[in-house]
This record gives sequence, structure tokens and C-alpha cells, in this order.
Amino acid sequence: MRTRTIPGSTGRPRPMRLLGDPALTMPCQEVTAFDGELARLIEDMYATMYAAHGVGLAANQIGVPLRVFVYDCPDDEDRRHLGHLVNPRLVEADGPVVRGPEGCLSLPGIEAGTPRHDHAVVEGFSATGEPRTVTGTGFFARCLQHECDHLDGGLYVDHLTGLRRRRALRAAARAPWADHGEVRPPHS
Ligand SMILES: [Zn+2]
Repeated sequence: MRTRTIPGSTGRPRPMRLLGDPALTMPCQEVTAFDGELARLIEDMYATMYAAHGVGLAANQIGVPLRVFVYDCPDDEDRRHLGHLVNPRLVEADGPVVRGPEGCLSLPGIEAGTPRHDHAVVEGFSATGEPRTVTGTGFFARCLQHECDHLDGGLYVDHLTGLRRRRALRAAARAPWADHGEVRPPHS
């Protein structure tokens, strides 16, 4: 029996941009061409996310300044959510604010309790330009808010304050992947 192509199986992983890289702090641009190049970018993003064992990836994390993200992420009921969104807009972020563990492929090995809304709705488009609405709760809502932040040039550490923020940035500065002397705190 033939199965559908697994997302990312025709893509190739690309190098991950890490904290301190200007690609992560510049807002991304809207996609205007829903063409083969966009489809290849999305395939490469899936491949990069899976190779890095992540649950989500934004295009600027591989240095492409376009408003696209991919995800393969469980929610708190262990339901799997798999897909991608082009030109996403966070149209709802509400419900209780929950502080939960959050990490990022651009700050590997670091995790911090980060406040996020428990419910999120994102509207956008598929790779072929079909409108899509994605609703998430719990950890998947966290993922959707995290990826939308990336496309605006944000990082989860922007949501941290006080000791949690200092701890996370200190860990990032000392991390083996840090470009020592180059790492600056992200904008807030
Ligand atoms: Zn991230």
C-alpha cells in the first residue's frame, strides 16, 4: 500500500541559526509567491526540524526571512499536530496564562519556565495558498505563539523577566555553541 509522502522526506536539513544571529531578530516578510521554491523551503524546514528533534521551526531559524513555520507538536492531551503555515497571523491568544517549560532550537540545551496563553488560534495559508485556521491548546498553543514570535523577530527569552531571564541568558552565553564574545541579549 502506498502512503502519502512523509513531510520532510524530500527535504535536506539546513544549518540552524543560533542566538546572536541577526536573522533571528529581524521581522520576516510576507510570502508573495506560492511556488515550487516555497514548497522546497517547507520540505527543508520539516527535514531541519526533525533532524534537530524539534517540535516547531520558523524560516528565519534557517536564515530565510519569510513568514513560514512548520510544526509537529503534541498538545497536553497527547494529540499530535503536524503541519505548516504561510503568512500566519495570531488572531487569538487567550485563556489562562500558564508558565511551562519552553526551549528553542536556536538556543539548544536551554529551557526556561515561560508564561503563555493556554489557547491560541492562528490563521494563514498552506504551501499552495489554501486558507488555513489552526487552533491549539496547552503545549501546542505554546508552540504556535512561540513560532509567531519568531516571525516578528522575537524569542521566548523575551518573555522572561528577572532571575529566569538572567539564568537563561547566562546559560546561553556559556553554552558550547555560543559564539563567545558575540552573544548579546536579544532585544526585549
Ligand atoms: Zn524557537
